[in-house]
Amino acid sequence: MGLAAWDLNLINMKDTHYTALHVKETTEGQFSRQITQLAIADLPDHDTLIRVHYAALNYKDALSATGNKGVTRNYPHTPGIDAAGEIVKSGDPSLTPGAPVIVTSYDLGMNTAGGFGQYIQVPADWVVPLPQDMTLEESMIIGTAGFTAGLALYKMEKIGQRPEMGPIVITGASGGVGSLATGIFSQAGYEVHASTGKTEAHDFLKALGATEVVGRDYVQDPKNRPLLRPKWAGALDTVGGETLATLLKACSQEGSVATCGLVGSPKLQATVFPFILNGVNLLGVESATTARETRMAIWEKLAGEWKLPDLTSISTQTNLTELNDVYLDKILQGQTKGRIILKHDV
Ligand code: NDP
Repeated sequence: MGLAAWDLNLINMKDTHYTALHVKETTEGQFSRQITQLAIADLPDHDTLIRVHYAALNYKDALSATGNKGVTRNYPHTPGIDAAGEIVKSGDPSLTPGAPVIVTSYDLGMNTAGGFGQYIQVPADWVVPLPQDMTLEESMIIGTAGFTAGLALYKMEKIGQRPEMGPIVITGASGGVGSLATGIFSQAGYEVHASTGKTEAHDFLKALGATEVVGRDYVQDPKNRPLLRPKWAGALDTVGGETLATLLKACSQEGSVATCGLVGSPKLQATVFPFILNGVNLLGVESATTARETRMAIWEKLAGEWKLPDLTSISTQTNLTELNDVYLDKILQGQTKGRIILKHDV
């Protein structure tokens, strides 16, 4: 792999180019993208240079790649919010050349050139050493989606959630966060009820550990009652709106409902009854700025007690050309299942 050679040639590397997906804005406000050669010298001015081996495709990346200014303000830009690779150089002496590392969240791939390029340059604080029992590829199958699921479980358990309290509902279960959450919560000993709108995803979710697969209507109360008979002991919600309100209303005493997404709606119309009569906790999950110590603790759990036995079974590996030509559109159309992993030529 030539790690030592890379390290010795840092001066020359300033002139080195690498392959990346580059998104440009035209003067007419249109966006175009191409796979091209970019200069390492033009990467953002941070102290840690990483050679990316794997990245992962997230919905946010497709938004960034198609010119969504809510995700990426300034173009030209290289998307990719998840990246894993090896340290080339770092201002942090603990990040030695060749060390395998993960970078997810913070500003990576949003306004900082991301994992759809063979190199990234980021602050050392963003970098998490790859846990021992995990490969770079596995870390990207987990990526931001699995980290978010792990963060939700971490917060729920911190406030007292335990498997013996009863089942956990996961909504949007066939998606990136939902499918990994189904696997991770099952692995942690919980009975998981996976809610999905896709009948074709039932076997997939059962294989991940769901004891029951239910439809989206199971987590919706169109009658808008203030409280419902308890049906679950906790939930992780990616949907928002009426679904989140229903999850709160049918959660049993002292259970926690973690909210991380809004694929259905950003709104929440609720009463205080679940909180003041049942002691239900509503927990916010925000993965991007999780403190480094917590981030590392969660990655250790994702590599250990929460690790899915066969992560590669939920992933499809691709290259930059196919990612650009096929998968960016597919994820925008909701046509992907599990995780799409980009393998760079290294
Ligand atoms: P995906 O697109 O992979 O999955 C979303 C899933 O939600 C779909 O597969 C579908 O699952 C379900 N769904 C889609 N549309 C609707 C709808 N209108 N009503 C109900 N269900 C719907 O997204 P991700 O899993 O990557 O992300 C999910 C959410 O979490 C997003 O809102 C994302 O922004 C957010 N997120 C938040 C993070 C944080 O730190 N807070 C980090 C990462 C993601 P099914 O067919 O199985 O029901």
